[in-house]
Amino acid sequence: MSGILTYALHYEGAFNKNSLGAVSEGAKLAKGIGGDAAVVVVGDPAELTDELCGTLGKYGAAKVYRANAPEGLGAPVVDVMAKVIADEGYAYALFGGGLLGFEIGAGLTARLNAGVTMEVTEVHAQDGKLVAKRPILQDSAVVDVDYVGEPGVIIGRLNAFDIKESGDGTAEVIDVDVELAEHSTRARMVQRGEQRGADVNIEDADILVAGGRGLGKAEGFEMCETLAEAMGGAVAATRAVVDAGWYPYAAQIGQTGKTVAPKLYLAAGISGAIQHKVGMQASENIVAINKDPNAPIFEFSDLGIVGDLNKIVPKLAEAVKQKKGG
Ligand SMILES: Cc1cc2nc3c(=O)[nH]c(=O)nc-3n(C[C@H](O)[C@H](O)[C@H](O)COP(=O)(O)OP(=O)(O)OC[C@H]3O[C@@H](n4cnc5c(N)ncnc54)[C@H](O)[C@@H]3O)c2cc1C
Repeated sequence: MSGILTYALHYEGAFNKNSLGAVSEGAKLAKGIGGDAAVVVVGDPAELTDELCGTLGKYGAAKVYRANAPEGLGAPVVDVMAKVIADEGYAYALFGGGLLGFEIGAGLTARLNAGVTMEVTEVHAQDGKLVAKRPILQDSAVVDVDYVGEPGVIIGRLNAFDIKESGDGTAEVIDVDVELAEHSTRARMVQRGEQRGADVNIEDADILVAGGRGLGKAEGFEMCETLAEAMGGAVAATRAVVDAGWYPYAAQIGQTGKTVAPKLYLAAGISGAIQHKVGMQASENIVAINKDPNAPIFEFSDLGIVGDLNKIVPKLAEAVKQKKGG
């Protein structure tokens, strides 16, 4: 077995950032262990044109396996990837993380009886094999994980892998015929969409304005939305407010939500519980607004503002709008 197979999720004619990170990483690692860097894409052939699939070559993919199967669901992708691995003998399957990546990676692991490492932050090639680095014990230590058999499944943390344009944009597109398992056809995609705030996907956003219980009520999120819109960012939330029904689960950051790493994470009325911290601590800059000077979030913020968010957040939004001339 040789080479690396990744999966690229697409929506409205574009591949998502997290997937492109996995494709770029797969291409880099394939050079280290030998074999092809290949990508599986699924969906309606009318959307998945040769041109769109071929763009994955820019990120180092040599081959793109295209299957006519429902996009956005885990089980059909497991069927396609399992067939491509069985037919072509890829040594590793690599995912960029995110909820779908976890679902497909876990399903593929079970299907192939493979070894799996999750929440991976780094991968390197060593003696023709891959070694994955994975933080453990609430990120207080990092372990090296290698694989005793093949294929091996690697699931990264969301956005752990950087997007790198390395190829010349000429991936070979190969159509694969896959008969989906009976259970893979039971779920039907009713509607697809992305969690958006100020028209930006939360997992791709460079700026996130996150709200917590300190907002006081669901309507408090309007302030966050206004600020996010002014800054060109998206809105995120803690589990406390999601559980209270103030904001949708899709925006939840943390242990049981999403992991994000924006350039700026602005936390308004968030205490900084460990379960929240694990989902946003990789942010480049963390700014916290909290009326309690002893709030734990200040311990891992780059800038802390002690005060009432009801006064600060609207003023901040106004100041940003003015600065942008609007
Ligand atoms: C198994 C498990 C999994 C969990 N998973 C997650 C997860 O994925 N994500 C997550 O977020 N949590 C998660 N939690 C919950 C977590 O432990 C915390 O309860 C939660 O993060 C707290 O949310 P919060 O900061 O919004 O609320 P609080 O802890 O109540 O904090 C509110 C903050 O707002 C401040 N405040 C109040 N009024 C104002 C004001 N007017 N101006 C400024 N500041 C103000 C307060 O000083 C306080 O610090 C999990 C818990 C468990 C047990």
